[in-house]
Amino acid sequence: MKFSQLRTIPGIIDVSRLERWTGASVGRFHVCDGDAIAWQDPGDHIGMCETCYSQLCESEVRT
Ligand SMILES: [Zn+2]
Repeated sequence: MKFSQLRTIPGIIDVSRLERWTGASVGRFHVCDGDAIAWQDPGDHIGMCETCYSQLCESEVRT
């Protein structure tokens, strides 16, 4: 996990639009380069792993 890169996510990915991905594997989240996609934007097809999603939700609540 590279926490410094998480700073770039807010504004790029709208967490309110993400839906839990329960289908076949769609690869790994490129930002943290490790975890499998667990959430995905149905419109933009932007995926996010569980760990990054949790981190982002926490940061959104704080700000
Ligand atoms: Zn991640």
